[in-house]
Amino acid sequence: MSKTIAINAGSSSLKWQLYTMPEETVVAQGIVERIGLNDSIFTIKYGEGQKYEVIKDIENHEIAVNMLLEQLTELNIIDSFEEITGAGHRIVAGGEHFKESAIIDDEALKLIDDLAEFAPLHNPAEAQVIRVFQKVLPHTLNVGVFDTSFHTTMPAVNYLYSIPKEYYAKFSARKYGAHGTSHRYVSERAADMLGKPLAETKIITCHLGNGASITAVDGGKSVDTSMGFTPLAGLTMGTRSGDIDASILPYLMEKLNITDIKEMVNILNKESGLLGLSGISSDMRDLLSSDKEDAKLAIEIFADRVRKYIGSYVSVMNGVDAIVFTAGIGENSIEIREKIMEGLTWFGCEIDTEKNNVRGEERVISTDDSSVKILLIPTDEELMICRDVEALKK
Ligand code: ADP
Repeated sequence: MSKTIAINAGSSSLKWQLYTMPEETVVAQGIVERIGLNDSIFTIKYGEGQKYEVIKDIENHEIAVNMLLEQLTELNIIDSFEEITGAGHRIVAGGEHFKESAIIDDEALKLIDDLAEFAPLHNPAEAQVIRVFQKVLPHTLNVGVFDTSFHTTMPAVNYLYSIPKEYYAKFSARKYGAHGTSHRYVSERAADMLGKPLAETKIITCHLGNGASITAVDGGKSVDTSMGFTPLAGLTMGTRSGDIDASILPYLMEKLNITDIKEMVNILNKESGLLGLSGISSDMRDLLSSDKEDAKLAIEIFADRVRKYIGSYVSVMNGVDAIVFTAGIGENSIEIREKIMEGLTWFGCEIDTEKNNVRGEERVISTDDSSVKILLIPTDEELMICRDVEALKK
């Protein structure tokens, strides 16, 4: 039976999920962690709760992919490599070029490499994995699914920063956004749940995970999103600061005796957000179970930023039919969803505390007479990736 694999390669990891298509059934999934380090961890989950795990040094992505393919046959998950007819690769930066998912030929692969400037940790690893697939599975169709594609519909009013315009023209300095595949998936599901054609909906999608972003989706198209030139902008995240006044950077660099701006940006990416505010953890569960004042304050700040973006996106679209919660925090935290929504009753939007008392299940969580539907929709980026591959196989 024809199978498609969704691949999410990071600089030192490779997550994957294998589907039988077009049935859309998951046959196996796994992760390779600590690639290039010692004691890499290779895990496969398959069948009826079976698990294969091995810990050994995996030097690079090529070895990881070869190991994965070997194990898929070894564990009888596939009979032969020929069964894998498609591979969908998640690519972080697609720039302005990739407006939708694309078949990867030599030209596309070169463009992905060239876009490394926009995602230095991700695009090179992703390009490397595609090359490995081209080599070991020459019959397989490789498709790139870009985090940025969904946001290429944003109008200039929302993607331009208020800086000299020539920086956009000369250097492509603009807002690109991220998490596009997730925002696209949940907005399509939301239209189904609303029982309306997507083209007639105004939806605000809140992807609240370790990385977090909010998108205004008008008529099925992203018109504004909270992440920016990179994923650093927007909401308070696990370790990222979100929006900040740029003038604080030279001020802090002087105080901290930092001379390299990259070091300062690294602090904003890795030591800020929930972690920096609480001094405890980047993980929302840890903060929710802590009785420390700084943990409580970090939670308040997180909820406040989400609320502000929702409020502003109601204005961007001049209305809203549904607000969607997804990803780790959005899908699982009853308390955070409630906290966010309790500050948004001014436009008649009301969460139903009983319906909201659920984790990871697709459902309406607003009251029957709420002016706007509040929806809980578990995201499924891997399925979306495999659907895009299927569409391009034809
Ligand atoms: P990533 O961006 O790494 O994919 P996830 O979407 O997995 O992140 O989200 C991770 C976040 O979700 C963490 O902050 C974690 O604490 C939070 N989370 C997961 N389960 C719960 C829960 N039951 N309650 C609150 N937060 C949760």
